Amino acid sequence: MKILVINCGSSSLKFQLIDSESEKCLAKGLCERIGIAGSMITYAPAGGEKEKTETPMPDHTEAIRLVLEALTGPETGVVKSLDEIGAVGHRVVHGGEKFAESVLIDEDVLRAVEECNDLAPLHNPANLIGINACRKLMPGTPMVAVFDTAFHQTMPEEAYMYGLPYEYYRKYKIRRYGFHGTSHSYVSRRAAEILGKNYEDLKIIVCHLGNGASVSAVKNGRCVDTSMGLTPLEGLIMGTRSGDIDPAIIEFIAHRENKSIDEIMAVLNKKSGVLGLSDNLSSDFRDLEAGYNGGDANAVRAMRTFSYRVAKYIGAYTAAMNGVDVICFTAGVGENGPLVRSFVCEYLGYLGVALDPEANRMRGTETVITTPESRTVVMSIPTNEELAIARETLRLV
Ligand code: ADP
Repeated sequence: MKILVINCGSSSLKFQLIDSESEKCLAKGLCERIGIAGSMITYAPAGGEKEKTETPMPDHTEAIRLVLEALTGPETGVVKSLDEIGAVGHRVVHGGEKFAESVLIDEDVLRAVEECNDLAPLHNPANLIGINACRKLMPGTPMVAVFDTAFHQTMPEEAYMYGLPYEYYRKYKIRRYGFHGTSHSYVSRRAAEILGKNYEDLKIIVCHLGNGASVSAVKNGRCVDTSMGLTPLEGLIMGTRSGDIDPAIIEFIAHRENKSIDEIMAVLNKKSGVLGLSDNLSSDFRDLEAGYNGGDANAVRAMRTFSYRVAKYIGAYTAAMNGVDVICFTAGVGENGPLVRSFVCEYLGYLGVALDPEANRMRGTETVITTPESRTVVMSIPTNEELAIARETLRLV
């Protein structure tokens, strides 16, 4: 079956058409600046030329219409008609406590997703717009929602509760949810497959280090803790997000800089992380790596502080699981960042981690980066959230 995977944001939309038998991507692309001047669609059929076209996209329905037109086009299309697309899988950011698994979309599901909008006001409404636009253009085609939060719903109460008045949980469901679940699930399973071990027998820590970054602890095939919380702001230091801070800093800055809560939240989400730590050098690890190699103190500070935080979470999750068998690095930096991987591993001597510097030089491949003697296995595994969404979609239709 050919499955269309949609990841819809407020002004952008990423898509991939995946053949579920071969698990190959047949075509992929991106619509940008939806509803803004200068809208653009990028389309790349597998093995073909990538093409970028500037064309008006007043709304998401028009964006999806253009995607479907590109996929079925006479020259660069990869299917003859829309009938060949058997199902659509949608990434949905927040499923709250309602969704511990992917679901086939119907009216009840849409209502329940809408009820989670408060928990992810920037993401969920955009995801819903994408789903509704697809339903309009492909009325008979089954659609599946795959939630970023679902994999983490197995966390025990002691991992998901904050030390806050319980009534906030009762009234508003304030608790830790976690994100990047599709990636944590895919990578942890893949680690077991590659090592030829039983997923249910392993203690795995996954470090998803991209622009957004999170760590999760997966014990016997179930997530038992993860570093993001009610929102993706908690946990690791990220590209531009602060991660964990003393909450009293918010009041401190508000008074000193005369800023509102909204302004401070914008600083914590968009101006902090390695961008802020590097004194605005960059949020991109390619720039930071270059700076580090050139001895730039701002780059050194950002990379070292980022890596230390990852190592602290690995320590915490080793404690949470009473041990760890496998540590996986994934996403942009985890897959392509030998420096960050080596800085993190420097802290892991107590786990018997012996890094293989030659293997650690690899970028973007499935590689064991420790020596055969290493007591704990450390791996780099490219994530593939689209494939994971396509698999979930196939399973449900
Ligand atoms: P997101 O999906 O959260 O936007 P990604 O997983 O694409 O993030 O990761 C983006 C990060 O990965 C950026 O900081 C980027 O610099 C880093 N990255 C990508 N390729 C490389 C590379 N070859 N070397 C080092 N870092 C890289």
